Amino acid sequence: MAIRFFNSLTETKEVFEPAEPDRVRIYSCGPTVYNYNHLGNFRAYVFVDLLRRFLRLRGFGLDHSVNITDVEDKIIENAHRAGLSIEEFTAPYIEAFLEDLRYLKLEEVEHRPRATRSIPAMIELMGRLHQNGHAYQSQGNVYFRLASDPGYGRLSHIEPAALRQAADGRFEADEYSKEDVRDFALWKAPATDYEQRWESPWGPGRPGWHLECSAMIRQIYGAAGVDIHTGGVDLMFPHHENEIAQSCCAYPDDRFVGVWLHNEHLLVEGKKMSKSLGNYFMLRDFMEPERARAIVDQGRAPALILDLLASDRMAGALRYLLIGTHYRQKLNFTFDGLQGAANAIERLQGTIDRLLRIATETAPLEGQGPAPSFVKGAIEEFTAALDDDLNISKALAAVFELNRTLNQALDRNDLGADGVHSGIEAFRMVNQILDVFSFELREVNSDPEHDAIDALVTERNQARANRDFARADEIRNLLRQKGVTLEDTATETLWRRD
Ligand code: AMP
Ligand code: ZN
Repeated sequence: MAIRFFNSLTETKEVFEPAEPDRVRIYSCGPTVYNYNHLGNFRAYVFVDLLRRFLRLRGFGLDHSVNITDVEDKIIENAHRAGLSIEEFTAPYIEAFLEDLRYLKLEEVEHRPRATRSIPAMIELMGRLHQNGHAYQSQGNVYFRLASDPGYGRLSHIEPAALRQAADGRFEADEYSKEDVRDFALWKAPATDYEQRWESPWGPGRPGWHLECSAMIRQIYGAAGVDIHTGGVDLMFPHHENEIAQSCCAYPDDRFVGVWLHNEHLLVEGKKMSKSLGNYFMLRDFMEPERARAIVDQGRAPALILDLLASDRMAGALRYLLIGTHYRQKLNFTFDGLQGAANAIERLQGTIDRLLRIATETAPLEGQGPAPSFVKGAIEEFTAALDDDLNISKALAAVFELNRTLNQALDRNDLGADGVHSGIEAFRMVNQILDVFSFELREVNSDPEHDAIDALVTERNQARANRDFARADEIRNLLRQKGVTLEDTATETLWRRD
């Protein structure tokens, strides 16, 4: 079946066809490194990780770039205040960003270009724009002449004429030196005497943010451009709109971008999580015990996060939470949701453990016959859902259905060796995308509350044996509140997390 993606440019689902048949080129807008990244940023990066892993599952090689914006106003200002060079100031944030990515098991990408190391490519692109009338110089700045691009507005579907009225603060303070308020800066002359500057044919200065991405794509991928360009919806205008304007006017014969994918935002209580609203959690708040303790003490988070950290379940829960909602839907972050994600992993992991135990105990299981049809069906549903614009909710529904059927067969003791093996293989395949499960045979049950739950289950069974059904029900309810489900088989009582 064909892969389809929703292209923001055409606002339709299109069949995906990369320029090369077996390799996909991707460019994703990355972080501006003057602070740690918040959870919202990671929604964007986890989405791209899902995209990468899905394409690999479908047999493609990957050639993916995520840029690092390491020169911009806040960086310049903060570095100056700290008495550091740009390089010195950004280094720890870049390191922290990479560490955060590893924590969430985001794959390493093929290129991480940095703005400060791509200046020659930017100057070359600006030179072309200047040469063919799309850029002009004014008071040491270089601007893109918006009126020279008849297609401007193609991505955000904004009429260029309407932009003139919409001078609503999106435009920068240097407007007086522009021919037209809509024009945007490609190159900025130094505004202070302390800031770092680079030489250019238009005088010393530093690049504008939009220019960076266009230049890097040209430098890394040449005329073929990229098959996929990603970013959060907030970047569609003006950032991506301006990228297209620059690249198409500088290199009219290039392809630039095949399909534009934009992820929706992570919200907190209905509002976009952002640095400016102050309603954000850094990933580090959940990653580091001291920071987690601090936000719990401030009443901003429940003790649950300390629990998840202590039991090593935090990274998986966050990853699952961020990946589990379709990328074009808003995702409201709640702690109930985080607990739900941890429970979902635990429940599936319980089945994996069960299957692994049987596979080892009864090993070596003879030969391998065909997988039962319900396993094959689940795998097909899983991939078909992802083929359809990465419909992860539907894909996960197939996984839970498989989980249910496997457990039922195990309870009846009629799964069989092929069922056990193919069940494990199906979960391994799912894990190539989710990357939250373990396939090491764990202790019989490594649930952090294992002993306490076992004791309650025993007590409940004794109560039942004594016909004290009130007490038995009380315990069952208590366990239910902990998200534990009991299952009475002919020989024993099994329990698992919901
Ligand atoms: P920034 O560092 O703000 O330039 O953002 C880096 C990436 O994170 C961009 O792709 C943004 O669109 C994305 N982003 C920022 N805030 C959010 C959010 N609340 N939810 C999802 N993505 C976001
Ligand atoms: Zn960009």
